[in-house]
Amino acid sequence: MKSDPIIAVDGLTRRFGDVVAVDGLTLEIHPGEVFGFLGHNGAGKTTTVRLLNGLLSPDSGTVRVLDLEPLNDGPALRRHTGVLTETPSLDERLTGRENLEIYADLYGVPRTEVASRVESLLEGFELAHRADEKAGAYSKGMKQRLALARALLHEPDILFLDEPTSGLDPVGARRVHELITRLSQEQQRTVLLCTHNLAEAQKLCGRVAVLEQGRLVALGTPAELARKLGRSQRLEIVVAPEHVPAALEVLEARLGTTDPALENGTITVMGAEREAIPDLVASLVGAAVRIYGITPQEPSLEDVYFALHGEEVVS
Ligand code: ATP
Repeated sequence: MKSDPIIAVDGLTRRFGDVVAVDGLTLEIHPGEVFGFLGHNGAGKTTTVRLLNGLLSPDSGTVRVLDLEPLNDGPALRRHTGVLTETPSLDERLTGRENLEIYADLYGVPRTEVASRVESLLEGFELAHRADEKAGAYSKGMKQRLALARALLHEPDILFLDEPTSGLDPVGARRVHELITRLSQEQQRTVLLCTHNLAEAQKLCGRVAVLEQGRLVALGTPAELARKLGRSQRLEIVVAPEHVPAALEVLEARLGTTDPALENGTITVMGAEREAIPDLVASLVGAAVRIYGITPQEPSLEDVYFALHGEEVVS
């Protein structure tokens, strides 16, 4: 990527007592990226986001966001960043619309634009019909959508989203996924996503950083990480249940596979690539095995994540 980084972090470290929450983090994020922070509970994702927003001071290392120093230029920076925290604080005594209006005022949205932006976000997040009810009466998913709308109100260049689809139903989650993709691809907004949902990260993120006890243990695109970890493709083979034993014999003879995974009638063979499929089909048919499907699977981010656990830095 050739553009200057919009976020540059070098040797960033932050302790809480004996706990090193963020430990020597170095990375750059570029405009328009959807960048994922992954890691177990307590890995340091939220602390990193707080450091990037100037809400915490680092013990050592440097942070630059939009060419500003978050700690010293917090107010200027926050005009260009939108944050959705894990537990968004809405004023539950105010209506949905009022929550947005107050925030628009706080974040300097031009007065002439407030009404139209609020209206369009309420529409976009399907809250218009409940806009004049108190936010305290909203369901969890509605509160999450209102908090997301609020984070977008001042049209920030960078969005920090902590578990943005938590509490949303599948339709709501898909809408948020589409929104994130649109913001990044059509408007060149940068999105930082903290998520435990690996399928979500795989779908949305160009690159991910995996943190473990504050340390960066992997950085790259999901495909790069899979290659570096030597994760190979696998084949998923579905045959008639009564033909599984015969299929296993063929697989052992053709691929030397002695220990394939079996789940719900699907045989998963690690290390087998799509080029193996034609010969395999011929052999299975030759052994009178009834085949319902053979699908090559690329290594997923979930494969990478589990393989990484306890391993060294991959970057
Ligand atoms: P989760 O997935 O559970 O949200 P996380 O990756 O966001 O976790 P952090 O919240 O950044 O993790 O926490 C990293 C470590 O720092 C944890 O051990 C946590 O207990 C500690 N920590 C974070 N904030 C504080 C604080 N204000 N005071 C003391 N310890 C803290």
